[in-house]
Amino acid sequence: MATTKPSAMAMPSHCTASHRGGSPYTRPARPPTLGEDAVRWILARVREGARLVLAAVWAGPSRGSRAARLCVALIFRREVAPIEARRLLAADLNALHNGIAWAVVERDRVLRRGALRPHLRRLEKLQREIARLDSLCARRGGPHCDTARGAKSRLWRLLGEWTKEAAKFVVRLALQYRAAIVVDTPESESMQELKQSGSYPADRKALLNFGRLRRLIEGLAAWHGATCIEARLYSTLCPQCGTKMTELQNRQVRCPRCGMEARRDEVPAMWAQRRLDGLIGPANPRRGPAPRLVSGDSGPRSAAGS
Ligand SMILES: [Zn+2]
Repeated sequence: MATTKPSAMAMPSHCTASHRGGSPYTRPARPPTLGEDAVRWILARVREGARLVLAAVWAGPSRGSRAARLCVALIFRREVAPIEARRLLAADLNALHNGIAWAVVERDRVLRRGALRPHLRRLEKLQREIARLDSLCARRGGPHCDTARGAKSRLWRLLGEWTKEAAKFVVRLALQYRAAIVVDTPESESMQELKQSGSYPADRKALLNFGRLRRLIEGLAAWHGATCIEARLYSTLCPQCGTKMTELQNRQVRCPRCGMEARRDEVPAMWAQRRLDGLIGPANPRRGPAPRLVSGDSGPRSAAGS
């Protein structure tokens, strides 16, 4: 019988403005109440058999107004039986502006694949609006700065909601297929270079918050007993021979050495297939550095161009 292990989940701090004009340290005019979302969140945890292990309440000033805020944060805990993974769910988070490319794989077949994309046009429109309001704020100040702040929080809220939904989707899929999740996030230095290089569109920089997405996936997976592994799943190295692939048109890549050709988005899933035994096999640790692969490492070869 599978042993269980403890798993914790925190309710994001939930704040309510309690009264106007007073100090946050005086008695509020009326006691703060939890919003419907918070209540739903708590009920869902209770239904999952979790119990409250920590509750914190604090008061503080709210941003941009004289109202005091009362905030509540809760941590629930439960025992969960780890799910023994039979497959891998490869999630390539490399560039959120292209969406998350995901695939459920077994050693020799891809069961399902797809991509999750934020509503880019809506986000970009909002980003242009923010740039316009920012320049108005710089020139004229006053109410324009408030409007700009409002638009920025709307952008962050949209991105935050999308990220949360994407994490839920990935974990649900992993549970459905009894798959361990493999997330590939780029090394921070290479992202730093990308962000600083002029080649990356400035208005898309805001979309690169895959660190938060990865943390959400990890937390949610742990809560449900699923495994989440971080490993490099290359999209530009040939999964058959490890050679750097050449980019063709339409996000197609081709290996100059063995001739393998694929859509760039599909290559990470091929790496996941190749690493399946290493990542979820019983003889291997679930976590740790990704197996090193150097150019020229002979992997399983199939017919060129397959
Ligand atoms: Zn190759």
